[in-house]
Amino acid sequence: MKILNAKGDSNYHTHTIFCDGKDEPEILVKEAIRLGMKELGFSGHEYTSFDGDFCMSLENTANYREIITDLKEAYRDQISIRMGIERDLFCDETDLTYDYVIGSAHYVPVEGGYLSVDDTPKIMEDGVEKYFGGDFRSYVEKYYETVSRVPEVTKCDIVGHFDLVKKFNEGNRYWDEDAPWYRDAALTALHEAAKNRPVFEINTGGMARGYRKDPYPAAFILEELEKLEIPLILSSDCHDHRYLTYGFDQFCGMYRKVNIE
Ligand SMILES: [Zn+2]
Ligand SMILES: [Zn+2]
Repeated sequence: MKILNAKGDSNYHTHTIFCDGKDEPEILVKEAIRLGMKELGFSGHEYTSFDGDFCMSLENTANYREIITDLKEAYRDQISIRMGIERDLFCDETDLTYDYVIGSAHYVPVEGGYLSVDDTPKIMEDGVEKYFGGDFRSYVEKYYETVSRVPEVTKCDIVGHFDLVKKFNEGNRYWDEDAPWYRDAALTALHEAAKNRPVFEINTGGMARGYRKDPYPAAFILEELEKLEIPLILSSDCHDHRYLTYGFDQFCGMYRKVNIE
């Protein structure tokens, strides 16, 4: 398996106070330098008209761009800083350019709007009841159908947390992740999403926040990515500087073999 930053000395999935992260960007830059990292990429949640809670407002987008540009210059002798964006499939179109784009699916389209897949278990449960008649399989299949279009729609360089839909499903609480239908849905979507040959993340964000014991994506998806010879990138989906490289050590040095428990 090819992990582009297998030394764990960079992270490209980083959130700040401009969206739903806890820290000012400079705190994260200082932490990255302290950890001896070579590169730090910021990836604020791009403006989405229907979700003001997690995404950057238009005003914050302008501030984000200005501050990251200033930090790039101020710290250029110590660390390489890149200004990326995390773009949801349902973000509004923009002409703003970034150093790179992480493409993600955080919602499934439902009648009259969007259902968040990663907000809270209660929001997911209520949404599945209301829009899918309580059928988690239909909900999950809708998610995979949605995420399969992420590279084509977002024109991303990196596909973010490919199986985010499992966030609240630790211990198979809502459905069985070993079930053939589940694996089929995930792998069919994976083949579609891999057509444009983007990089995929190994994202430890759900582990850092205690939701999951395994990363996004699961081992069976990583195995398929290996067969497809798609490169991977370690990413912490950082929302708190204390977890800037959370879990990276367990993937550094084991990248020839998928063996995640
Ligand atoms: Zn995300
Ligand atoms: Zn993120």
